[in-house]
Amino acid sequence: MLELFNTLTRQKNEIIPFEEGVVRMYTCGPTVYRDAHIGNLRSYLMADWIKRSLILLGYEVIHIKNITDVGHMRQEVLERGEDKVVAAAIASGQTPQQIADFYTQRFLNDEKTLNILPADEFPKATDHITEMIKIVEQLEKNKLAYEVEGNLYFNVRNFHKYGQLSGNIHENTLKDAIRVEIDPLKKDPRDFTLWKKAEEGRLLKWDSPWGYGFPGWHIECSAMSIKYLGKNIDIHTGGVDNIFPHHEGEIAQSEGFTGRKVVNHWVHGQHLLADGVKMAKSSGNAYLISDLINRGIDPLAFRYLCMTARYRTRINFTFASLKASENALNKLKIKFHEFRRSSHTNQIDTEKFNAWKMKFQNSFSDDLNMPEVLNLVWRLLESELNPKDKYELLIYIDQILGFDLPNTNDSFEIPDDILNICADRTKLRAQKQFKKSDDIRTNLESSGYIVQDYQSHSILRKKSLCEIRNERWPTISSSSQIQFSNNVSNEIDFTVALLINSHLEDAERCILSVNKFSDSKNFEILALDNGCDEATGEALEIMSKQIPALSIIHADHSLGDGAAKNILIKKSSGKIFILLDTSVEITGEFLNQINLILSDTSIGIAGFAGLKTPDLMHFHDGDGESGEMDAMQGYCFAFRRNDVSQVGLMRESFRFYRNLDIDYSFQFKEKGYKIFADHNLPMVLHEHRGWTSLVESERDELSRKNYGRFLKKWRNRSDLLISERK
Ligand code: AMP
Ligand code: ZN
Repeated sequence: MLELFNTLTRQKNEIIPFEEGVVRMYTCGPTVYRDAHIGNLRSYLMADWIKRSLILLGYEVIHIKNITDVGHMRQEVLERGEDKVVAAAIASGQTPQQIADFYTQRFLNDEKTLNILPADEFPKATDHITEMIKIVEQLEKNKLAYEVEGNLYFNVRNFHKYGQLSGNIHENTLKDAIRVEIDPLKKDPRDFTLWKKAEEGRLLKWDSPWGYGFPGWHIECSAMSIKYLGKNIDIHTGGVDNIFPHHEGEIAQSEGFTGRKVVNHWVHGQHLLADGVKMAKSSGNAYLISDLINRGIDPLAFRYLCMTARYRTRINFTFASLKASENALNKLKIKFHEFRRSSHTNQIDTEKFNAWKMKFQNSFSDDLNMPEVLNLVWRLLESELNPKDKYELLIYIDQILGFDLPNTNDSFEIPDDILNICADRTKLRAQKQFKKSDDIRTNLESSGYIVQDYQSHSILRKKSLCEIRNERWPTISSSSQIQFSNNVSNEIDFTVALLINSHLEDAERCILSVNKFSDSKNFEILALDNGCDEATGEALEIMSKQIPALSIIHADHSLGDGAAKNILIKKSSGKIFILLDTSVEITGEFLNQINLILSDTSIGIAGFAGLKTPDLMHFHDGDGESGEMDAMQGYCFAFRRNDVSQVGLMRESFRFYRNLDIDYSFQFKEKGYKIFADHNLPMVLHEHRGWTSLVESERDELSRKNYGRFLKKWRNRSDLLISERK
């Protein structure tokens, strides 16, 4: 019996289907104006494991996953460039329908790549407008909906169970939760839109008893779930962000329409985070399946990674953990082929086989305890069972794991001649002929194998594509991989540090200018290639061969700004650390001037362009001024490396660069240091493309969020301002 946590009852409940042997399941599907990121896909993987568990336990599963192809495609929004993808598609002469079809196809491919079993139907919202209108009409009859100027709202006051799923019952908490401007046409701020009147210029609209308009978001799921699954739905899944308002609204509509409970069991998956915050396109930390493939990583490694935590806990995604999952998956595949090869000689030991089957069943039936299932898999591999049992049990549990082990190609199978070489080498090691065995190892490695030595034997496996790539240059996945230390060997006078996100020409101009005006041998230029494309990585490598002071650190993906800059700080060996933006061009000797400012130990930060504020609410440019400032702008930001142990590193919650410089300035001020701008430092600022390449709405949103972060920490510290110091 499968037990799952039910958001509605707030406890684990057994899945007892309405119809014996048949489970009806609905999954809130993707919005198809953009690609699904791997966070979205984590939610669909959860639904997949539920479905696979039920099937393995002998149920028939009828599974529906909707496609949300109604978006807020208003012409003005497009013209403002807010949805770049849609705007680009329209610019290329496509219709909304074509865009939706394009992304639906890509979504289905992504699901296939992850071995997610396809739903029985993928109904589209736009094909079910009639059904939605019918529900709204009925709700109006039932006094659960009212019309204002062609808009239909759900009347929350008349539906007493509203709030049962999310616990958002009180008007005030709801107001906070809704967080959107209250529509003045609503009778109660909690009321939500069922049907909205089409405004001027809207591309997608339909005729209705209330005039031209388009449906609210929640109504599509009520309409399609009831149409395809009826009034008895066993399981409804989604991500936790769907609980409110989406699913709360759906319950109100479906129950208001049918007059009865419709969904028995609500299951919600926790989020995938990246760099500590929810993965979302708007946060700039979303990755696609194609991003994994482009890095040479097997997408099924993501499937593995998601199994390492329970679906109700958050996972912080890192490429390092993804690679670890890929290694584990590869090892599992090799073992599988090994058992397959030697399984012919054995018979199944039914008793042991069934005992293991039960262990597996107990784990996945316990609210999808996938980490335990994986743990059992590894214990099985190490167990004393014969290869035939292991092989058959892996095939059995793979129906849940979904790695498609029986069909993984045999690229993991190692040819006999290589295996023989390895066996010979093991003998040499036993005879302590280490020189010979090391030579063989080197040969094996250059033929694309990885050799892991244990006391009595060695394990051989093919290198993954990712490992082969990584050999070109080592990469870093997160700032936590390195520690900050004050005791640096090879200490030198200066580190000039650059963060390169794109725009190679800017980086080259900056690096060449630094190099030109730093004759002192005692400096280094440290550049972090922040997940740029191969060509940029390559060009930087070539540059580093020509400029002895330059070294490159490659990140395997685009790290957040705070994390990336911390890596530069941690990797630096200069007594003085100078962060330069790549828009800066140095025009004269500058290192000694910075040194001179920082020889005054009451000054913590030296730089080119400062900022001042009377009240923390607004910072204004030091306008070409030199002198003491409230904060230093990130263009040129220099400090003594030693002070970091006292001041701390930058805050990595700042993924976007804006206002991080102010935040870090305040860390210095808090420790009593002054901030000093010298606008005569020999440098010019070119176009700052980190800023100009963003559209206005993106800039505003990202800057606002970061300013919020800054204020949250420093709002009460106006005592640190120059204007307050007398
Ligand atoms: P959307 O296409 O935005 O409607 O989202 C599709 C599904 O992905 C929904 O069930 C969301 O709850 C879920 N989702 C969105 N972001 C994440 C995330 N970072 N981690 C896990 N699930 C997510
Ligand atoms: Zn939905």
